[in-house]
Amino acid sequence: MIPIQRIPAPDELTQELEHCKTKVTTWVAEGKTVRDVWSNGAKVAKCRIRQLLEEMAPGRKRCMYCEDNLGTDIDHFQPIALAPSRAFDWLNHLLACSYCNSNLKRDAYPCDEDTGEPLLIDPTAEDPADHLTLRLGSCQYEAGTRKGTETVRVFGLNDRQELVRGRTTTYTTCRGLLAQWHTYVQEGEEAEAADLAQALREQPFAEVLRAMEYTLCDKPHVARRLFKPPVHAALIEWVRAPDRMPEPAPQA
Ligand SMILES: [Zn+2]
Repeated sequence: MIPIQRIPAPDELTQELEHCKTKVTTWVAEGKTVRDVWSNGAKVAKCRIRQLLEEMAPGRKRCMYCEDNLGTDIDHFQPIALAPSRAFDWLNHLLACSYCNSNLKRDAYPCDEDTGEPLLIDPTAEDPADHLTLRLGSCQYEAGTRKGTETVRVFGLNDRQELVRGRTTTYTTCRGLLAQWHTYVQEGEEAEAADLAQALREQPFAEVLRAMEYTLCDKPHVARRLFKPPVHAALIEWVRAPDRMPEPAPQA
């Protein structure tokens, strides 16, 4: 799971969300629910929210939870059923696939019994690496915190074999691309190197490459064992390259 930079809500979206909140007051007084407003009375707001979320999802508009499927749904991180007041809160909206949103998460929102803190990772609000480590050997996540454990459980990040298989294939491809990128850099093929670097910054590679970077920086002895010399050398160069980090999300 990679961190996502949230784009600040532009004025027109803020105004549209405020308009929806006004509509909630009217509709609820008429016996309807907040979900009714979300489903049937917020077409303009939802269109704009989806556009912004898609801009935030690196490259291929992947689900921000499983990072594998196309992000088709606007997920309420804090579900409408539990927090209707946050239905039209931009900071509560994430891009999810329908499987993560409708089949797995639904109204799940586990919280710490003592602090009330949510036990799911919001990748737009914190760095998932504080809670999860992608183990390259197995391409499964290891949770370092309770929040990590709950996130893996709710979204089936280790149980969904298609996700593990996808990461495994990506890891194989990623090593080849990284070595090729290094070759282009060494040969001065700047345009080709830039194209490959851009591809590597996007999903599905971003997640795996980040795990490779962490391995190199935190466990260099493991990196030497894990990566063959051309990949190891390429990774060192990649980490040193000044433009290796993803481009900041465009400001609204
Ligand atoms: Zn998903």
